[in-house]
Amino acid sequence: MDADRQAWLAAHPYLGPIARFQRIVEEATPGVRPALPAPRWDSRDQDLSTGVPLLRSAAGPGFSAAAADELRDLVDRLAGALLPGGIASACQELREAIPRSSGAWSQAMSFTVEGGPAASAPVHPGLLRLLGWTALRRVLRAECTAGREEGPWDRSECPVCGSLPVMAQLVPADGARQRFLACGCCGTTWRFTRIGCPFCGNEAPERLGILQVKEEERLRIDVCDECGGYLKTYAGEGDEELFLADWSTLHLDLMARDRGLRRVGASLYELPELSHDERRADP
Ligand SMILES: [Zn+2]
Ligand SMILES: [Zn+2]
Repeated sequence: MDADRQAWLAAHPYLGPIARFQRIVEEATPGVRPALPAPRWDSRDQDLSTGVPLLRSAAGPGFSAAAADELRDLVDRLAGALLPGGIASACQELREAIPRSSGAWSQAMSFTVEGGPAASAPVHPGLLRLLGWTALRRVLRAECTAGREEGPWDRSECPVCGSLPVMAQLVPADGARQRFLACGCCGTTWRFTRIGCPFCGNEAPERLGILQVKEEERLRIDVCDECGGYLKTYAGEGDEELFLADWSTLHLDLMARDRGLRRVGASLYELPELSHDERRADP
């Protein structure tokens, strides 16, 4: 995994700063790597069959309360560490802006889950959201398994948190290929129909396209002419942790943006502005 990651970063040096940031956050979350779990369908059949994602079901507040404590501890650890790039000072500001009373951290977690306007965050809304989802992934991990079993969920929203997907994966199965969607917030993956736009439901082949990514045959961008949305797609197997992580393929979002496409999936990452030279190195 580390060798794959290093090779990928060597080929895409402009992803280096965000990769280093990801590594710092992962290391501040001891014992848990942000996994890409699949829901354990059997335990929540009732909610799933009515189309209610886990965090919006009756069980949701329990997960948020547990994650609020995780978030506070994570911000504490990052604020106290020697870190580059102003991360520690941003975390110190977060720690100072959010009182230690449990209600304040629960509110911060609500901001994460409900995706309220940036102005409703105390400070650093983007960082708070990313750390909040990191904390939630840790709490949710107990509820999810890493399986690929087929469940009773056929929607384009994430069955755990309700967000729209940032990535898809095509997996060979019985001579055809199955498609899975991946959530950029809680990290869940779930099976979805093979053909069609998950954002508007368009299934007309002549209104669906594929942007191949030069020199990266494992990746492509599926495009919908109907709504202008796109879905980054990993057409390989074995490197899910790297390729379904969203941050590792931000250059595909830039490609899509250059073509006037809309980023509909719920991403935690703002798109960087690349210099002309950096862009020229891009496929
Ligand atoms: Zn999710
Ligand atoms: Zn569409």
